[in-house]
Amino acid sequence: MTHVLVIGAYGSAGVAAATDLAEDPAVDRLTLVDDGDPGGGLCILRGCMPSKELLSAAAHRFQVRHDDRLEGDPSLAVETVIDTKDEHIENFAAHRRGAVNRLADREDVEFLTESASFVGDRTVAVGDRVFEPDYVILATGSSISLPDLPGMDSVDPMTSADVLEARELPDSGVVMGFGVVGMELVPYLREAGDVDLTVIEHDDRPLDDADDAFGDAILDIYRGAFGIDVVTNAHEQSIARTEDGDVRLTVEHRDGATEAIEAEQLFAFTGRRPALDGLDLNAAGLDPGSGWVRNTMQARDDDRIFVVGDANGREPILHVAKEEGFLAAENIGNHLAGEPLREYTNTYHRVVFSGAGVYPYARVGHSAASAAAAGLDVEVVTREASQDGVFKTKAAPEGLARLVVDADDGTVLGYQGLHYHADVMAKTMQVIIENELPVQSVPDRAYHPTTPEIIDGLLSAAGEAV
Ligand SMILES: Cc1cc2nc3c(=O)[nH]c(=O)nc-3n(C[C@H](O)[C@H](O)[C@H](O)COP(=O)(O)OP(=O)(O)OC[C@H]3O[C@@H](n4cnc5c(N)ncnc54)[C@H](O)[C@@H]3O)c2cc1C
Repeated sequence: MTHVLVIGAYGSAGVAAATDLAEDPAVDRLTLVDDGDPGGGLCILRGCMPSKELLSAAAHRFQVRHDDRLEGDPSLAVETVIDTKDEHIENFAAHRRGAVNRLADREDVEFLTESASFVGDRTVAVGDRVFEPDYVILATGSSISLPDLPGMDSVDPMTSADVLEARELPDSGVVMGFGVVGMELVPYLREAGDVDLTVIEHDDRPLDDADDAFGDAILDIYRGAFGIDVVTNAHEQSIARTEDGDVRLTVEHRDGATEAIEAEQLFAFTGRRPALDGLDLNAAGLDPGSGWVRNTMQARDDDRIFVVGDANGREPILHVAKEEGFLAAENIGNHLAGEPLREYTNTYHRVVFSGAGVYPYARVGHSAASAAAAGLDVEVVTREASQDGVFKTKAAPEGLARLVVDADDGTVLGYQGLHYHADVMAKTMQVIIENELPVQSVPDRAYHPTTPEIIDGLLSAAGEAV
């Protein structure tokens, strides 16, 4: 009799694991636990789905503002944007809850809508019941992380969760956190509320995993097309509330000079941390320090506890959470059968819906910098969106794209795009890169006038280079 308990069954990682385990004949008993109210997981309730819906509204206004063929300056009906989003999100969440409840209809599956915590080695308390399963899958997700900045207690920052619910926006704001979430929500705030924004960036440019040219292009687009003040090479020192109720953020510049920035509201898009509080990992002998989860998804301290999704702090994005959930289910089967466990590996794949989604950044596989760091001998070709007339005809002429190919045999190793439709092109590039196709074998025939002409241009230049 094999019993598996999943903590966080409504989330993307947990539901993936639960779905496969329910079908596994080697698992006779499955206990699912989630305390979400309403359930649905982060991606659906306060993550990917609502943020992309708000961005789609922002994209329309941005495009109207930047297309001389249109007249007037429409504003977003923020109440309607939020109402419509809420309606969609409730449907998606109900669908997720339905999927989990259908699993629980099975005789060997039980679903408990309460909080779980460890009370001993692989021993889990849920409400007034205590379970001693053979395996535990920990898929508890992540929670918002606020910096420990002097004065933080005196202000009431708006986080991503607040912005996704906000029916009214302030006139001005100062933004801490210019990672993926900040880069997505800053243009929304601009388009939805004409919020006058100052963004603090710690380095020369944002987009740490991108080649520098892409971070520089983001700065140009945010400053130029969105009118956002991005202060680079600045670090937050303290925050205070002013006498008239605004916030004053003091930053230190690279040269040591300090500057006080005042605004009506502080926005904190300062990242997330694994949601492990309240689980009492200590009781299970788990120490969530560096390297606490192996590539097989097993906890270093207990090879029958698997930690997947945002909870393991490795790659907090949706498709990784799902893949890790499926892998944990597969590896429980392997462990039971005495087979070697599979390690999680993936091709780098990120899409940032920057520039209100009109100028998304996508990277699949290597950047030029990561290829160099890996010691690969590569050819790098770059193309500006302005070289392709099609982007001008669509009133989205900014941006660039880059291909990294093996210098010897032309295998396509990486694509980056920061341009109109780059998010969609990531799929084509995933097929090429994951199948290790040589650049010479990919047709560079343009179906004029379509935006993938930028890819054809890259393929043709890379083909000539190798
Ligand atoms: C604003 C924003 C935008 C994003 N956009 C994207 C995007 O465009 N693309 C992308 O790939 N990713 C995006 N993400 C990231 C993505 O949402 C997450 O990586 C993903 O949802 C994590 O899934 P998960 O299963 O690990 O966690 P979750 O979905 O958070 O699931 C965890 C579950 O565990 C439950 N739980 C927690 N503790 C307990 C406990 N003690 N007992 C019982 N149950 C418990 C919770 O109720 C929850 O249901 C975004 C995130 C944010 C915040």
